[in-house]
Amino acid sequence: MTWSRRLVGTKRQSLIVGGPGALEQLPPGVARAGEAGARIFLLTERNVDDAWGKAVADLLSSAARLEDVLVVSPGEGSKSVTCLSECWEWLARAGARRDDVLVALGGGVIGDLGGFAASTYQRGMSLWQIPTTLLSQVDSSVGGKTGINLSAGKNQVGTFYQPNFVVTDPETLRTLPDEEYVGGLGEVVKYALLEGEEFLSLLESNTEEIRRRDAAVMGAIVHMCVEYKAGVVEEDEFDKAGRAVLNLGHTTAHALEKSLGYGRIGHGQAVGLGLLTALELSEKLLGLDSSVQTRTRDLLAALGLPVKLALPSADALLEAASRDKKVTASSTGFVCLAALGAPVWGINVTSSEFVSALEKIAE
Ligand code: NAD
Ligand code: MG
Repeated sequence: MTWSRRLVGTKRQSLIVGGPGALEQLPPGVARAGEAGARIFLLTERNVDDAWGKAVADLLSSAARLEDVLVVSPGEGSKSVTCLSECWEWLARAGARRDDVLVALGGGVIGDLGGFAASTYQRGMSLWQIPTTLLSQVDSSVGGKTGINLSAGKNQVGTFYQPNFVVTDPETLRTLPDEEYVGGLGEVVKYALLEGEEFLSLLESNTEEIRRRDAAVMGAIVHMCVEYKAGVVEEDEFDKAGRAVLNLGHTTAHALEKSLGYGRIGHGQAVGLGLLTALELSEKLLGLDSSVQTRTRDLLAALGLPVKLALPSADALLEAASRDKKVTASSTGFVCLAALGAPVWGINVTSSEFVSALEKIAE
């Protein structure tokens, strides 16, 4: 079943369509763009090009002029000034105009890079996204954050720029490496805790289908995540306040990723562990019922996510957490749950509370 969600109230409107077979929505979309004279510029990376490049290029060129394709290297390294400037030069060389469309086909890396390029080229050209990882379908393709990394840190330069059109097809998840797919499920569990009972029980009763990437089930699950994030973004597009709830589990996740060394643990895997830490703190500080943590631990394990880890020293974790912008900018602080589906942000957590909550995930 296909679904759609229009973001309204944001600076630029965005239409997201999803569900099995959603890629078939591309030809009518390009036909409309083509009638208005727009040409298509396709940006992707090698892995995604191998798996989906031809199928998507065929769909795009069936109804409008596919002007040019740029294939960059896969991986976080492409969120760089060098690669961004390669995108700008490519567009300029091919004579791209503001009303032409940049289609970003790939995971969060291509979405962030392509989004930044499109938002700045001639002060902003049309942008479509075809997210091909679970993380990018439930997270980075919704909400308009774009960015690249500097040596000083991740996402240090970027823009807010809602894509005009997002096509999210769960079929594209079939070719994703297992580690990446399972990692994306860490973010999905985060949304279930934020949304509440209905979403959490849906996940609990479909763990088999989820693990085998059943397109109908995943289409419905991605839809629920997109609905949740879109609602939050409509309230706080520029991340000044309420959008902070989306950081549930992320203070710990960033501290783990940083203290272990980036790439040693997947982001989504770290988020799963971060959720357990946040739930432990929520029990201690807000009286959250302990059944939420028990259910979450069982669910994460059933989905193939880690629930325990050989932790770095407490000092290393505290040092990493204290540098997290969510901690130091006291306006946002920690995100906890007062109840399932009832997040609270801006919670102050002391070092000793944080360290003792981490014991619950220590191997
Ligand atoms: P990614 O784009 O690097 O993709 C992960 C891996 O999967 C890569 O090796 C890629 O080549 C491969 N891949 C992607 N789709 C595939 C497919 N369908 N079949 C086979 N292989 C495929 O990583 P990601 O996890 O999608 O995104 C991470 C990035 O997203 C980070 O840079 C992060 O900062 C960013 N992010 C942005 C936002 C936002 O709001 N803009 C939110 C969350 C994360
Ligand atoms: Mg995340």
